[in-house]
Amino acid sequence: MTRAISLRDVTKIYPRDVVAVNRLSLDISPGEFVVLLGPSGCGKTTVLRMIAGLEDITSGELLLDGELANAIPPGERQLAMVFQHYALYPNMTGEQNISFPLKIESPGRDTTNQVRETARLLGIEDLLDRLPAQLSGGERQRVAMGRAIVRRPSAFLLDEPLSNLDAKLRTRLRAEIATLTRHLGVTTVYVTHDQAEAMSLGDRVVVMRDGVIQQIGAAREVYQRPENVFVAAFVGTPRINLLRATVHAPLDGRLNIDFGTQRIQLPQPLSPDHQMLRVQMGREITVGLRSEAARIATPQEMRPTEALLNGVVQHVEFQGHESLVHVSTGAHPARVEGLEAPRPPAERRARGQRGGRKAPLRRLVGRYLNR
Ligand code: ATP
Repeated sequence: MTRAISLRDVTKIYPRDVVAVNRLSLDISPGEFVVLLGPSGCGKTTVLRMIAGLEDITSGELLLDGELANAIPPGERQLAMVFQHYALYPNMTGEQNISFPLKIESPGRDTTNQVRETARLLGIEDLLDRLPAQLSGGERQRVAMGRAIVRRPSAFLLDEPLSNLDAKLRTRLRAEIATLTRHLGVTTVYVTHDQAEAMSLGDRVVVMRDGVIQQIGAAREVYQRPENVFVAAFVGTPRINLLRATVHAPLDGRLNIDFGTQRIQLPQPLSPDHQMLRVQMGREITVGLRSEAARIATPQEMRPTEALLNGVVQHVEFQGHESLVHVSTGAHPARVEGLEAPRPPAERRARGQRGGRKAPLRRLVGRYLNR
């Protein structure tokens, strides 16, 4: 069984008037994998704890499969929660830790088969005899996952379950968690402050800030069409370039955008994204430019859909499959980052540009207009 989880206008106020979650509404479909993403203190854990029943809801409604659940005791919600700290019983073996929830339910019951099946799913059959102290961090987290799934809960609530692990293991385990929860077909709510983790995991990503949802969408949507500057800046590595600019309409009707002393002309007809620039005429706007949307080229190499900003290459960061090129453009802030594929000649060219070569910006993302 899997569950629909809905939050309707939910607010959580802690003592001393700390508003941790502010009028949050979210509908999660049965079997869906939703990631709550945001900086530390934005209220992600509080949302999870309210769903689990570990925290009272100050106002608003929690619905489980359409039924009001605000007052249902945690133990009766059939939800399993996995925390950042594995919280295994140190004096129990892997097997005993995993079987613990079943034994609590019905003491004396033979749990061997259920535990074996769970261990098989997680690939930890050979760890069942060991105590937590004899396991690595990743293995402990697998045992903790085992303890959460052994009762076949109707939803998983995972609170930064990988943040104590090293980067390599984190990447591997997050793929395993995604595969496992999809295999089990169980609704999953996953909390993280790591945007790369969020982007790789969720059917949908919910970006939060100060207890308020900023955007809900598929990872691609949140990345390519951020609703505001906060989301644009929080999601994506390298960080998006945010450039101050002003919009002008000269006599020929083509829109111009001024970056400091530099001006670019938008092609006609304007794309739907750029149409909204018309209402920003004369105002200062923020232009978001993803690194991969910029490339280093000469004016002769420009394509018709590109706009040109002059810049001086300051620094090239080699990153293996690509290079990150820092370019100063005179716009504010002065630096723009662009990515280049690692063609040695391109990099040599970029490095040799201190004399003031031109860096065209292929695509201007014009949606983040002072919102
Ligand atoms: P993190 O990623 O650091 O865990 P978070 O996004 O999960 O952060 P929460 O733990 O939900 O954020 O906290 C949201 C806000 O509520 C913070 O300002 C926090 O200080 C406050 N808060 C959390 N728990 C309590 C509590 N028991 N009493 C008072 N304030 C609390």
